[in-house]
Amino acid sequence: MERKRILVVGGVAGGASCAARARRLSESAEIIMFDRGEYVSFANCGLPYYVGDVIKKEENLIVATPELFRSRFKIDVRLQSEIVAVDRQNSRIQVKDCRSGQIYYEKYDALVLAPGASPIRPNMPGIDLAGIFSLRTIPDSRQIKDWIAQRNARRATVVGGGYIGMEMTENLVNLGLAVTIVEMQSHVMPMLDSEMVSPIHAELVKHGVTLRLNETVTGFKQNKDGSISAELKSGRTEKADLVILSLGVRPEIRLAQEAGLEIGRRGGIRVDKRMRTSDEKIWAVGDAVEVKDVITGQWAVIPLAGPANRQGRIAADTIMGRNAEFRGVQATSVVGIMGLVVACTGVNEKTLRNMEIWDKPVPFEKVYLHPGHHVGYYPGASPISLKLIFSRKDGLVVGAQAIGRQGVEKRIDVISMAIQKKATVFDLEEAELCYAPQFGSAKDPVNIAGMIAANVLRGDARIVHWDALEKSPAFLLDVRNPSEYRQDHIEGAVNIPLDELRGRMGEVPKDQEVWSYCAVGQRSYYAARALSQYGYDIKNLSGGFITYTLREALDFISE
Ligand SMILES: Cc1cc2nc3c(=O)[nH]c(=O)nc-3n(C[C@H](O)[C@H](O)[C@H](O)COP(=O)(O)OP(=O)(O)OC[C@H]3O[C@@H](n4cnc5c(N)ncnc54)[C@H](O)[C@@H]3O)c2cc1C
Repeated sequence: MERKRILVVGGVAGGASCAARARRLSESAEIIMFDRGEYVSFANCGLPYYVGDVIKKEENLIVATPELFRSRFKIDVRLQSEIVAVDRQNSRIQVKDCRSGQIYYEKYDALVLAPGASPIRPNMPGIDLAGIFSLRTIPDSRQIKDWIAQRNARRATVVGGGYIGMEMTENLVNLGLAVTIVEMQSHVMPMLDSEMVSPIHAELVKHGVTLRLNETVTGFKQNKDGSISAELKSGRTEKADLVILSLGVRPEIRLAQEAGLEIGRRGGIRVDKRMRTSDEKIWAVGDAVEVKDVITGQWAVIPLAGPANRQGRIAADTIMGRNAEFRGVQATSVVGIMGLVVACTGVNEKTLRNMEIWDKPVPFEKVYLHPGHHVGYYPGASPISLKLIFSRKDGLVVGAQAIGRQGVEKRIDVISMAIQKKATVFDLEEAELCYAPQFGSAKDPVNIAGMIAANVLRGDARIVHWDALEKSPAFLLDVRNPSEYRQDHIEGAVNIPLDELRGRMGEVPKDQEVWSYCAVGQRSYYAARALSQYGYDIKNLSGGFITYTLREALDFISE
């Protein structure tokens, strides 16, 4: 067997996956994995929960120790060993032993760069004050925990409302801290479309979280009592005992850049489908690289553990001469926020509109639905709000977002696989999914999403959306029960309950477009089907009153 010398820089998700896979493929390879930190293969995804005391012991964050890598995989792990340069001409790396300061060189046949990404820390006054933290490593989480305990911290400011911001907020609230989130966009979780986010805002507010949306931090000041004031663009200040910066991450490209490897437009190391960089002896994986978005076809930097692991495996395969290719990313993700589960996959409407391809040349369409996570007759059903985005041309599914308390990630995972396999809404309609009353419905929410979308494409259901309501010239028909209507309704809507509709059709104008709605869009679809067969010009409000009120809640909270 050919004896290859494989050096891996970075020993967590991408690096460790690559090293272990390489060993499985070759007993003869010499594999050395370097990490500048004190650990390899630790659970960065668990760090917020360690801060929040959900994960009690630090050692539980260690997925595999250097000893295990040595004994089980015959991999030489070198901790606190920073790679400071790549000498491509001589196929060697320069290693600095962080404990002794000693510098030495190691030669490679194949080099894998898996250095991850570093948290963004904008250059602004006071950014280096004690008490302002980013979260990436076990020592970071330990410092945050110690700070909270030693200062008896009561208030925290979380800057940035993405995944890590949300997870840290949840954990800090669970520790009893009052949390303020400062987010420069109009809503938290910017990967979702704005109307989908209002349940998250509502849940955060319910848990006492203060939201400062459309706000930017311009600097920090230390107060006499040791607290930190975040100064906001609006002139407001937010005082807290600690600040968590969760502004996203930037690919670690220094090594690659200095070695003259190609860096892409999105700021990540450019690789081909086999995870090979512009140097045929060097591979790169994980948060440090940019890869193709399977839907938009554009280069993207998607810092998620799943892609990092798969890329590590693919790099090992190709180093060992196998024919493996990375399929690209579609940003499938899930986060828990105060009991809410928020998941998405594929592209969102905002992105398609920004790319100016929402309506051209191939238009897209969306449908909303709010089915129970399992059948209503079995106790404990809870709704999932789901938005499905698809091509109007052929029904190709391109994105989905869902929020609920149970069963959310299952639906998004199914749709994610559908997207990867280039399935259409007609495929979702026909998908055979497991069912028993406590787990789902004979028509699963994924099937229903497919059916609604397929109805639209077949012309069986014409739909309108909440964002068209404001300027609507249509006759608004509310087909819910009178008690629902009395509780709340869209201004100007006329209530004719579905069960009375056939007897009261005369009250619906025939010379005007009619938009029907109910709570979630199902009864009004029945109404639309009936009325259209009597010659009415009728459209159904997708997702019904619930989608409409999602948007209203967003307006309310943003004020
Ligand atoms: C708090 C937190 C929560 C997260 N939660 C989730 C989640 O729930 N789901 C999800 O999908 N993703 C999550 N992620 C993202 C996920 O952890 C990353 O996408 C994944 O770890 C990337 O793997 P990687 O191997 O590219 O980089 P990393 O896991 O960051 O590993 C890179 C390693 O390289 C080392 N290194 C860097 N430069 C050098 C050098 N020059 N020499 C030696 N060593 C070096 C670093 O010390 C580091 O240990 C989370 C991340 C964080 C920080």
